Amino acid sequence: MSDALRTIVDAALSGSTAPDEIANLPLPESMRAAVVRRSEVDIFGGLPSSDKDPRKSLHVDQVDIPPLGPNEVLIAPMASALNFNTVWTSIFEPLPTFGFLERFGNESDLGKRHDLDYHIVGSDAAAIVLRVGPGVHRWKPGDRVTVHCNYVDMEAPAGHDDSMIDPSQRIWGFETNFGGMAELSMVKVNQLMPMPTHLTWEEAASLSLTLATSYRMLVSPNAANMKQGDIVLIWGATGGLGGFAVQLVRNGGGIPICVVGGQEKVELLNSLGVDTVIDRRAEGFQFWKDGVQQPKEWRRLGKKIREFTGGDDVDIVFEHPGRQTFGASVFVARKGGTIVTCASTSGYLHEYDNRYLWMNLKRIVSSHFANYKEAWEANRLVDLGMIHPILTETYALDDVAEAAYAVHTNQHTGKLGVLVNARAEGEGVADPEKRARFGAELEAWKRLT
Ligand code: NAP
Repeated sequence: MSDALRTIVDAALSGSTAPDEIANLPLPESMRAAVVRRSEVDIFGGLPSSDKDPRKSLHVDQVDIPPLGPNEVLIAPMASALNFNTVWTSIFEPLPTFGFLERFGNESDLGKRHDLDYHIVGSDAAAIVLRVGPGVHRWKPGDRVTVHCNYVDMEAPAGHDDSMIDPSQRIWGFETNFGGMAELSMVKVNQLMPMPTHLTWEEAASLSLTLATSYRMLVSPNAANMKQGDIVLIWGATGGLGGFAVQLVRNGGGIPICVVGGQEKVELLNSLGVDTVIDRRAEGFQFWKDGVQQPKEWRRLGKKIREFTGGDDVDIVFEHPGRQTFGASVFVARKGGTIVTCASTSGYLHEYDNRYLWMNLKRIVSSHFANYKEAWEANRLVDLGMIHPILTETYALDDVAEAAYAVHTNQHTGKLGVLVNARAEGEGVADPEKRARFGAELEAWKRLT
């Protein structure tokens, strides 16, 4: 970190420097950022996805500071977190994300700033505000914030019921440049939320993208609209989305049926009081064989679920693995049940037997990140101590490619944090007494390592 950046970040963190003074301190000439380079988009040509190694494509480079526009805020991310979208960006799949930046550049002069030969990744941050652009009044330099990744103008009428429907909606740090894995980042003011006061920078940074996605999928009327008593099948229940889904289902009076890969993950969930766990590896489910779906395996999963429920089928399936599991997910949902999907990790050309859908009046509901209100409500649950981070490991910015590799190869559990401007793990807690009140539960979720 440069001396100029350290001076302004320390002033902003001090709590005793006036917002105007912070805003007048000079910014550094350039900054360090985790990027993929346009010149390298073909380096994995011909390799299967599993062999594309983010450690070859994700770099920490010295780059320019982005210029601030109206309704924008310059933040210093103290920490960020790894999300699967950084894996997609770094293996250039399904397409290089430079296409998103080019389209953004063709849209407006402000969009042109994003169309560069490098793409700064990262769709989560816990940060301190350093500068606000014209038109910003609710936030000021020195505010501690968490940042959600719904980047939207709200100029079009279509987004005003739900900003995820807005034609300009993008995911920050994936479909825009200047993501959170940089010493400085540029975000829209309507991405800011107050940082939960009992959390460290890296804990606070590890929440928003996956928590708000899970919140919308399960809780929001925009998706599955879960009610008390609902039985919810959660794929990847110790992963980034799934770890929050388990907490949301339990908070909302639902019954989670968790699927994980490996006995140690079963034991971790058991230690958190979740006994309804299926180990997909031990069961050896083979939903596909030689390119053909295996309905008898769907039935075997359904039978396993009924062993836990006393014969009931699931009201909601929390879907994201995609092609490998989707046929089974449609099959095991109860009559009138909902399959809510936000992703296709194992392939996006899904196949399922439509008879089970229409004859049984099931619904497939799509969901994608969250609007500001949903992200804010999810963030509030964290501040209230009703949802806890599932941060299991924290990497230095220089090691971000290792973190992306761990997620790509499914060697991780929960969320992986990335320290950016924070000097060390454990900093940033504003209210230690409140932290002590939630101590036991906070620690329990960290056992997901
Ligand atoms: P994650 O931390 O890697 O967790 C996903 C878990 O799913 C894995 O740990 C694995 O758990 C399980 N899984 C993976 N492949 C599977 C398969 N073939 N069959 C069954 N289970 C499988 O990732 P995440 O952060 O939860 O994200 C999951 C997906 O959602 C990614 O594709 C991501 O891009 C997407 N996503 C979308 C949005 C959105 O807004 N649309 C937001 C967040 C994430 P086990 O091995 O323990 O079973």
